[in-house]
Amino acid sequence: MKYDYLIVGAGLYGAVFAREAENAGKKVLVIDRRGHIAGNVYTEEIEGINIHKYGAHIFHTNDKEVWQYVNQFAEFNRFTNSPVANYRGELYSLPFNMYTFNKMWGVVTPEEAAEKIEEQRRAAGILEPKNLEEQAISLVGTDIYEKLIKGYTEKQWGRPCRELPAFIIKRLPVRLTFDNNYFNALYQGIPRGGYTKMVSNMLEGIEVRLGVDYLEEKEELDALADRIVYTGAIDAYFGYKLGVLEYRSVRFETEVLDKPNFQGNAAVNYTDAETPWTRIIEHKWFEFGTQPKTVISREYSSEWKAGDDPYYPVNDGKNTKLYEEYKKLSISEEKVIFGGRLGEYRYYDMDAVIASALKMCRNELGK
Ligand code: UDP
Repeated sequence: MKYDYLIVGAGLYGAVFAREAENAGKKVLVIDRRGHIAGNVYTEEIEGINIHKYGAHIFHTNDKEVWQYVNQFAEFNRFTNSPVANYRGELYSLPFNMYTFNKMWGVVTPEEAAEKIEEQRRAAGILEPKNLEEQAISLVGTDIYEKLIKGYTEKQWGRPCRELPAFIIKRLPVRLTFDNNYFNALYQGIPRGGYTKMVSNMLEGIEVRLGVDYLEEKEELDALADRIVYTGAIDAYFGYKLGVLEYRSVRFETEVLDKPNFQGNAAVNYTDAETPWTRIIEHKWFEFGTQPKTVISREYSSEWKAGDDPYYPVNDGKNTKLYEEYKKLSISEEKVIFGGRLGEYRYYDMDAVIASALKMCRNELGK
């Protein structure tokens, strides 16, 4: 065998595994179907601005080990995610905090805000939330659910909130303080110079072949290595033989504008049901850009179909069950490690992907 590891996918999981394997003295080959590294965290420069080509990625973590790990490969700036919600021209602060409650209800103190939420929660009569709608109402009440959650979530997931799992909304903090920081994380920022540079630093000195489709040349590629780390979609690996796992896909309409400032913030979420896009990203604000022009991306969510890029796994009951079946099949593939968002069919944040890759490295490489 020429290589100890063939790593399929040059995204975060693959890049971390490749780095650690190489450091442990293993011979590693990384391949990717796309013509570039970095998977969906890929950034590309336009007008001197790093564009998050496959959607906004804001690094945040509570895990000190992961934070120290990524800081070996990039210097992080002090960007703090604080998206604004636009509901039919009314602007609200996110995540839900005292600024949001003040704008929504005119309440001034945390007690008043808590009372208002409690009143709406009681009126809705939800004891044990069983789906996203009930979870949202019990967290923030009906007004916020109707204006800031329902439309956005149903556009993003293409399903009624009553049919979505409650955990999706638990990603969003609710605070009785004046704090617009979207994440409750200890560490947060954007790698200066973009994510592509960070992943490229991770892959330094490692052989990478781009534009190689593993599943199309599986036999020849498998023959090259003792072990395979597969970070593509698990159902695709098995030729969809048990059925197709559902994903949401995302489409971006990116525009260069001849003005320095379009919306004054990196992310503005359009939370009504009528606006066809879910959000607009103005990329320069991730790095406090001072360029004379600006680049914006309107983000449209759609159901994944064959040929599209899969983005978000739809972790509802039906898909979770099907994934479990694929997982059972994967255990008999003794040569192969399945990892990452697509390999494990999980709605992963970047830090969790890295933590999971590092954990796998400890098992696999004994370090
Ligand atoms: N969400 C919402 N309104 C918003 C932003 C988020 O209702 O303005 C909900 C929605 O259900 C979404 C979830 O929170 O699916 C997580 O959103 P987030 O923006 O964290 O997801 P991302 O796409 O960034 O992973």
